[in-house]
Amino acid sequence: MGAPRKPKLAVFKFASCDGCQLSLLDCEDELLAVAGQVEIANFAEASRAVVKGPYDLTLVEGSVTTPHDAERIRVIRRASKFLVTIGACATAGGIQALRNFRDVRELTALVYAHPEYITALETSTPISQHVRVDFELRGCPISKAQLVEVLSAFLRGRKPNVPAYSVCVECKRRGTVCVMVARGTPCLGPATQAGCGALCPSYLRGCYACFGPAESPNGEALAGRWSELGASGPDLVRAFRSFNAYAPAFRAVSESHERKQG
Ligand code: SF4
Ligand code: SF4
Repeated sequence: MGAPRKPKLAVFKFASCDGCQLSLLDCEDELLAVAGQVEIANFAEASRAVVKGPYDLTLVEGSVTTPHDAERIRVIRRASKFLVTIGACATAGGIQALRNFRDVRELTALVYAHPEYITALETSTPISQHVRVDFELRGCPISKAQLVEVLSAFLRGRKPNVPAYSVCVECKRRGTVCVMVARGTPCLGPATQAGCGALCPSYLRGCYACFGPAESPNGEALAGRWSELGASGPDLVRAFRSFNAYAPAFRAVSESHERKQG
């Protein structure tokens, strides 16, 4: 009797900086354990070997920015039993979604010497706007620990244990004194999903939301508190318009404060 078939793991890249794929490579010891349990079927950053689908688990990094991407993700979805998106680009459109608030043709003309050769969609959008996604892992970049948890969960057929609560909970757990309450430093932690271990507040900095919106964030209330601490309307637009600018909860706050400026 032969050895049981190992599940096939594929990793695909769309518009992104590769940082989340690097987090997977950076898992070192854990990656060796994962590599022993799966057949790495497609992971261009790690190996030239390409094994055809179907895949048991597909990780997708990056956002959809071109008509070709929009077609390619549908092909990948059809070939994948489970599809997990990793990082702010894949889950919210990424920093490149800043173009969604402007005319992309105007920006293309500013950036490229020959914009006539560029075929880009009007917007940079998360993968979930194009195909069904089984799980979204947030972060810019993602947390290695959360990635290992997601891989183990899917390989064992259970739900990933990735919390949707805010960074504030992580501050409380590690005993970090709140920078907003104690020092008046504006912090996006109350609206941001946990995952980093409240890294920035532990160095006396406010969080700038690289893990994207927490579950049911009250962005408007937080913007109100920032205003009391001296943040201007443009400060608020900029704060909510970064790596996760196109995530609906953050987009609503930045657009409402942009409208107030007229
Ligand atoms: S420092 Fe920021 S993340 Fe931490 S408890 Fe205060 S508001 Fe929340
Ligand atoms: S910006 Fe916020 S979510 Fe990102 S590492 Fe800092 S505290 Fe964590």
